[in-house]
Amino acid sequence: MHIQVEGIRGLPLIHEGDNLPALICERTRFEEGDILSIASSVYSKAKGYTKRLTDITPTPRAIRIAEKTREDPRFIQAVLDASTEILLEYPFVLSEVSTGHIGVRAGVDQSNIEDEMVIFLPPDPMAAADEVREAVREITGRTVGVIITDTCGRSFRRGQTGHAVGWSGMTAIRDFRGDTDLFGHVLKITEEAVVDEIAGFANFVMGESNNGVPAVVFRNCGTWQGHDDLYFRPEEDLIRTLLKKEVP
Ligand code: GDP
Ligand code: MN
Ligand code: MN
Repeated sequence: MHIQVEGIRGLPLIHEGDNLPALICERTRFEEGDILSIASSVYSKAKGYTKRLTDITPTPRAIRIAEKTREDPRFIQAVLDASTEILLEYPFVLSEVSTGHIGVRAGVDQSNIEDEMVIFLPPDPMAAADEVREAVREITGRTVGVIITDTCGRSFRRGQTGHAVGWSGMTAIRDFRGDTDLFGHVLKITEEAVVDEIAGFANFVMGESNNGVPAVVFRNCGTWQGHDDLYFRPEEDLIRTLLKKEVP
């Protein structure tokens, strides 16, 4: 197994209306089964999921939280607007977005965009991945997998890593349950979050600052079987249950 990883270089600064799949396809050659990872920030810029801080009026709740976190209340308002449920207000807002993804500041970014602007996560990142996959198929005739990534913090460990927020053409999880290990033991628990593993390496290739590499292609990853239940249901999520006791 010889997996190839290519960061797509030479993409311009992306603005609303840009045809991101076309710009990517001009800069690489896709083969059947390749996996294309795209930074959510760049997908969102192309679609205009951004806002000017001057267009945001903070509510009393945003002002109250911003005083604690020492952030711009308009930024906190953007985070609240993007959230369906707030799990923690301080020392940072941790919240769930409509898709079930839980992230610090709801994944709202102020980096890699002009001053006084914020970037939201795509509101429907699964549909976003489907759409990019279809666009690549139309342009190149190749059927690829697509993963939309975001850089996220983790519980228990310092340091951010790439996580998948949307995917298409693969299952999120490779299910090993029922498989046997090298000694013939039947695996009872192991479900591998493959989309996050690929997103993690894509994020490593992208970097966080001024690399200018928002898309990464993986070749020869093979295929796998499993399911898409990447997010815990609220009642099985122990950490969420504990955090919820912090915010009334
Ligand atoms: P996020 O992880 O989705 O929040 O995105 P980041 O802001 O960390 O950016 C990921 C990668 O994309 C980094 O290499 C950035 O330099 C790059 N990037 C961000 N915006 C643009 C853009 O408009 N054009 C190009 N070419 N690269 C960008
Ligand atoms: Mn981000
Ligand atoms: Mn990032």
